[in-house]
Amino acid sequence: MKIYPITTLITDFDGTITLEDTIANIAYAAADNFLVSASGDTSHHEFLESWHRVVRKFSDEYIQLFERLLDQPRPSRNNYNALLKFLASFAEVELASVERVISGKFLAGIKREKLRDIGKDIKKQEEVETILAQMRKAGVKIDIISANWSRELIIGVMDDLYDNIVSSDLEFNEDGISTGQINLHILSPFDKLKYYQLLKSDTGKSLYIGDSVSDLLAILASDIGVLFGRGKSVMRVISHFNLPFKELNDEDRFDQVRFDVNNTILIVDSWRRLNAFLTS
Ligand SMILES: [Mg+2]
Repeated sequence: MKIYPITTLITDFDGTITLEDTIANIAYAAADNFLVSASGDTSHHEFLESWHRVVRKFSDEYIQLFERLLDQPRPSRNNYNALLKFLASFAEVELASVERVISGKFLAGIKREKLRDIGKDIKKQEEVETILAQMRKAGVKIDIISANWSRELIIGVMDDLYDNIVSSDLEFNEDGISTGQINLHILSPFDKLKYYQLLKSDTGKSLYIGDSVSDLLAILASDIGVLFGRGKSVMRVISHFNLPFKELNDEDRFDQVRFDVNNTILIVDSWRRLNAFLTS
């Protein structure tokens, strides 16, 4: 059995466990209702059109704000406070977008079991299942913090490879059909940080891993903070706020590192690389 230097692994879900973002999969499940209903193909098409409009509106607003903020001069000091201010600026755009999804009832009419089934078919990152199973066998607690809108979908993907899931969730009626309402628990990087603090280990080291800008605060707060992949946006934020990072290569081992792990964002390109780093 392998030995790990951590007692808790807290992971993001979309893009870290899964290969791609899965939120669209939930909307497509809702769109399928139109195919089987009497209204036929036209409304299915219209549904997808207006869904894509909502998604585009969010990404346009987000990108516009992102570019405007990163266009400003780099902070000369107190980078962390400047980062907090930067991240807080997106709150309005994020909330407005979710409210459009809720008020448009985009995610209504989906059966609870259907979401779990969708989860089962979603493609995961290479070797992630094997490595998480290995970690759990070694006594590491696996928790998920996700801004995804469906806990059922996450369960479908994870099967029994987790201890806790904290995520937003669709509301269901008594027949187990989604109403379109989303109970928001995780929306912003600040929510992820809050739940990281609640879930982290009291007795040993905790590792947080995530792939995007919304994971940065939890990554920075963690004993071992890991960025999965080198997403364009997140790398630009890291560089703008001059946050220390180190890309791990095949030779790097946790018990031999010569840099301050606690204050460095570790970048891995695969779960295999992370596993090799942690186990000697
Ligand atoms: Mg992610």
